[in-house]
Amino acid sequence: MNSVSFYAFDTYNTIQADCAENVLCEAVERSNEYHRMLSRFEPCSDIWRLNHEKNTPVRVSADTVKILETARIVEESSGGAFNIRMGNLLDRWDIKRSPPMIPRQEVIDAELSAIRETDWSIQDKTVVLTGGAKLDIGGIAKGYIADRIADLLRERGVRHALINFGGNIVTIGVRPDGKPWRIGLQTPGREWGRSYWASIESADNTVVTSGIYERAFELNGKRYHHILDPSNGYPAQTTIVSVTVQAEDSMVADAVATAALILGPEKGLDLIHRFGAKGIILEKDGTITRSKDAVIFTEA
Ligand code: ADP
Ligand code: MG
Repeated sequence: MNSVSFYAFDTYNTIQADCAENVLCEAVERSNEYHRMLSRFEPCSDIWRLNHEKNTPVRVSADTVKILETARIVEESSGGAFNIRMGNLLDRWDIKRSPPMIPRQEVIDAELSAIRETDWSIQDKTVVLTGGAKLDIGGIAKGYIADRIADLLRERGVRHALINFGGNIVTIGVRPDGKPWRIGLQTPGREWGRSYWASIESADNTVVTSGIYERAFELNGKRYHHILDPSNGYPAQTTIVSVTVQAEDSMVADAVATAALILGPEKGLDLIHRFGAKGIILEKDGTITRSKDAVIFTEA
């Protein structure tokens, strides 16, 4: 097995696979290409152009079309909890800024009305974006890219691999020793990769976790994080600390995990099931809500 780590999509990523280093390099290069195609912060990326060339047909990649179509499906199925029109609002919150700051209510209200009047239409590979809000596909893009990188590795003959894009995991086959891959579920609040409250097994599928414990700040005893509730423009107020979704398709799992975090344990799990996936939802008080067929291992 070889492995590679790299920074992209605003997070740390690793790929482990039974292949030569040059194949891993190809996978990293392909990942960076996707980043340049999809990030709203990359000048002239598809999403950047849509955000800057409003009311104008913009020719985009088939990848972008696929992501926009799936985002729309998850938006509709989640009653609007999943919404990729929140680029400006996310900038207003700027969760990583230090010291942290809460936007004024008038600012949030103005962004919310821009979000409501923003929409897009797709014809073949041409997209027109109308309205004052900007797209942000941070809640779905990593899953899509992880799926494509898995495809690339399979094309190169890889039979055992674990792709981890900042908590968006895709596995190819089982481990080289024949056992399923074990995916640790991060203990909230602990240093990344150091402590797991449980683990699950994965073989030829995806395990995606969305949590509110990483990109967040606390002010006056309240937790502000990077998943915004489109109904009020504030970080989703929820008892959930993390949602883990196991599915076939990492893009769908990514979007659905983000939406479930906003919807809460019952509605969230229901959404996960409607997409044919399994879910494990952890709340602050330790309550676990999960699919009957989701198997978790909690031994030390
Ligand atoms: P992470 O990117 O940290 O792994 P998620 O997949 O849950 O976690 O995505 C969170 C990102 O999704 C945010 O950083 C932001 O870019 C975007 N986002 C925030 N709120 C929403 C929402 N309600 N619907 C869709 N995307 C969102
Ligand atoms: Mg997501």
